[in-house]
Amino acid sequence: MSAGMITTAYIIASVLFILSLGGLSHQEKARRGNLYGMLGMAIAILATLFAARVTDYATIIIAMVAGGGIGAVLAKRVQMTQMPELVAMLHSFVGLAAVLVGYASYLDPTHTYDDHAAKVIHLVEIYLGVLIGAVTFTGSVVAFGKLRGIIMSKPLTLPGRHWFNLGLAVASIVLGYYFVGAAGIDSGRIPLAIMTVIALIFGIHMVMAIGGADMPVVVSMLNSYSGWAAAATGFMLSNDLLIITGALVGSSGAILSYIMCRAMNRRFLAVIAGGFGVSGGKPKISDGAPGEVVSVSIDDTAEMLKDANEVVIVPGYGMAVAQAQYPVFEATKKLRDAGVKVRFAIHPVAGRMPGHMNVLLAEAKVPYDIVLEMDEINEDLAKTDVVLVIGANDIVNPDAMENPDSPIAGMPVLEVWKARTVVVMKRSMATGYAGVENPLFFKDNTRMLFGDAKASVEGILGSL
Ligand code: NDP
Repeated sequence: MSAGMITTAYIIASVLFILSLGGLSHQEKARRGNLYGMLGMAIAILATLFAARVTDYATIIIAMVAGGGIGAVLAKRVQMTQMPELVAMLHSFVGLAAVLVGYASYLDPTHTYDDHAAKVIHLVEIYLGVLIGAVTFTGSVVAFGKLRGIIMSKPLTLPGRHWFNLGLAVASIVLGYYFVGAAGIDSGRIPLAIMTVIALIFGIHMVMAIGGADMPVVVSMLNSYSGWAAAATGFMLSNDLLIITGALVGSSGAILSYIMCRAMNRRFLAVIAGGFGVSGGKPKISDGAPGEVVSVSIDDTAEMLKDANEVVIVPGYGMAVAQAQYPVFEATKKLRDAGVKVRFAIHPVAGRMPGHMNVLLAEAKVPYDIVLEMDEINEDLAKTDVVLVIGANDIVNPDAMENPDSPIAGMPVLEVWKARTVVVMKRSMATGYAGVENPLFFKDNTRMLFGDAKASVEGILGSL
């Protein structure tokens, strides 16, 4: 394959990646977007193999079959609710790959430089690639642990943590100066190794310091970092396509982080600095005393829904756990056939990953025109007869608006308590991901339908 053909293949792959991202931004076109991405990746891999003049195809095929096999089994087995953990784990691989490529590129004895400037540029690429890669690697591993529940979701706030971070940043800059100025590989690898340890520690500390409810921003931020780590790898390997792909992932992750911050009314830098969720104030129940919880039966809930003119369904993480989206849509169809106006309200951070609820509802074939974003439907909630909250908690917590001491204060929420009646479906009085009490459960117009969301919805469907 000539150099021209490889460049053409890379350009085609880049265009396909851009079309893929464009497709993934709309539910109707998401499937096509995925196909573009797969095709682009196939072209990219083939072109790279030809460009590298690989002769040992056996090793490549074994590696691809092993990697592809593990990927296929994992993708088949993973539950929708475990998707964010899987994504965090995959980000950590990208980070680790950038670190390993950086070291391999630095220690490569065959590498020669045209002039001093080319050498400095290459060393800076290696240094930045290893730095970003190491932060992404440990940050993603900690994010995986937090999402899986094996590491506490509460933010870790070490005394003087901002000074600690500043110290690590200054040390990295000084070490970078010594690394680039080092006479040879022997003296250069010491600052590189020390910086790697610092970056690994920084990754752990950065994500440990971010509290439960701010995790959506962490997930999208690590997504962005993994893109920049890939772009840095592209620079080290002089691979244009990897630079383009990395930049696409890096910038789309950065835009997503911005959107998530706006959705949660947080400033990006404040989230990264960590410590949210420890404002000192105890999450309180707004009206002082917790009040009384009124539970409701499946049959009564079905009656309420039948009698309503307008119903809004608010899905949350619990709906994903229970896999209740299919009976939910069956019930929706029945109600719509009976003349009830049913719509879905999606909070931007519902579930455990961006777009989580949209994916679940699309899976169950819920029509897109009745699925509305928070900003589109919040005002209508006051004139809604029944709001059905299915396994959601933090995203419908009035404390976010009413209690300035709450760890989630300031986060926009779906104002479901303004509806005539709210039915909350969950198994117990347990808190949600942010670990804060929810005064919604004690409001006069709230009814609790306890039990697994799928069993409850199937019960309602039977009654309907
Ligand atoms: P929450 O985690 O706040 O609440 C989910 C509720 O579902 C729980 O209170 C639980 O109560 C209930 N539940 C669990 N399993 C079942 C079941 N089988 N049947 C019925 N109910 C069940 O979820 P939300 O969607 O309201 O909020 C998302 C939270 O996750 C936010 O704090 C957000 O910041 C955070 N987050 C979001 C990410 C994203 O990108 N979207 C990423 C990381 C974190 P019970 O145990 O009593 O049943």
